[in-house]
Amino acid sequence: MYKKSKQRETIARLLKSTTSHPSAIWIYEQVKKEIPHISLATVYRNLRILKQSGEIKEVCIADDTAFFDGNIRQHYHFRCDRCGKIIDLEEPADTEIETRIARKTGLKVTHHRLELGGLCLECQKRGPWGQNHN
Ligand code: ZN
Ligand code: MN
Repeated sequence: MYKKSKQRETIARLLKSTTSHPSAIWIYEQVKKEIPHISLATVYRNLRILKQSGEIKEVCIADDTAFFDGNIRQHYHFRCDRCGKIIDLEEPADTEIETRIARKTGLKVTHHRLELGGLCLECQKRGPWGQNHN
């Protein structure tokens, strides 16, 4: 029987070893290979704890699925409209937008997120919408 801390450690390690921003279900399927008796509820609980402690981040996307990120330094994301892939962008954070908005509104801006959308490199090669859709 695995200890609770061991389960959490395994989930954190898995997330930090991928750049693919997986869903809880994907994480569950992977963790099961190491810890066969783990439940989905346990995975969800551990993801929540890891998120609260700042070890991982949740990527907010405008639909119902939560995606998780083991990379906690500030970075922007690009999401492909077609295949749904979420890509890390190696772009320095634009702190000017925070300063500008703070100056305009009087709000105390401490952080921001940015998500860009469009078509990834593979999907651009794939031809028009509706064709070869996987
Ligand atoms: Zn794509
Ligand atoms: Mn990321």
